[in-house]
Amino acid sequence: MSLDSYVHFMRMATKLARYALDHGETPVACIFVHTPADQVVAYGMNDTNRSLTGIAHAEFMGIEQIQSKFGAQDTSIFKDITLYVTVEPCIMCASALKQLGIQKVVFGCGNERFGGNGSILSIQKDSCTAPQNKHISVPGILRKEAIMLLRYFYVRENERSPKPKAKANRKLDVSTFPPIDWSLYLTREEFKDILGSEYLSHYDEKLDLSKTVDWGLIDGNYDDFFLNIKQQCDQFSLQVPKKLKQENCR
Ligand SMILES: [Zn+2]
Repeated sequence: MSLDSYVHFMRMATKLARYALDHGETPVACIFVHTPADQVVAYGMNDTNRSLTGIAHAEFMGIEQIQSKFGAQDTSIFKDITLYVTVEPCIMCASALKQLGIQKVVFGCGNERFGGNGSILSIQKDSCTAPQNKHISVPGILRKEAIMLLRYFYVRENERSPKPKAKANRKLDVSTFPPIDWSLYLTREEFKDILGSEYLSHYDEKLDLSKTVDWGLIDGNYDDFFLNIKQQCDQFSLQVPKKLKQENCR
């Protein structure tokens, strides 16, 4: 996998996060990509506000879609699936993903309070739950964009609040980003293997992979894109049996 393909799929997750923001949710979203088919099989957006369910995280929405299509008993499909999520999975989601045997988790920004892929716990490497399942977790893909969407959300929520916080807190910061401590998530060797030695200075200096923020990406309208992704996921369930059939005929 190259950095370009990580970015390609993370752009899709980021568009869904923007869609979530435009529809009253926390801007956190994900897509599940079937790696051999290189296709999106499920998507998820944070749904805690609408459903008033604290556990309605984006990852759980996607897992539910996959299980309703392929059954909940046989989890083998997850070994072919890479998750792209704009914010590091929380400890609960990271544990669920590990128990299901997910192939890989790629995320944007870290989850400083609840992160389960390195920020607080490293569930993906842990041997307590489902020790037979270990997966790689790749942080920092479109990280600034993920952070900006969260900032949009918090500024808006504060403006709507009956008791807005002080003016200084309300101002949208568009230029400063905290350094990324890659070593929380990956060893230097792992980082080199995944992203290439040309980026090692980013690891050492705690820099983002990209200097710029893709404003066009996070300021777009994605109502049509959402329908398109939904359709892609619906179609996938029909394509799998066809593909398997073709392989069996060979
Ligand atoms: Zn979660």
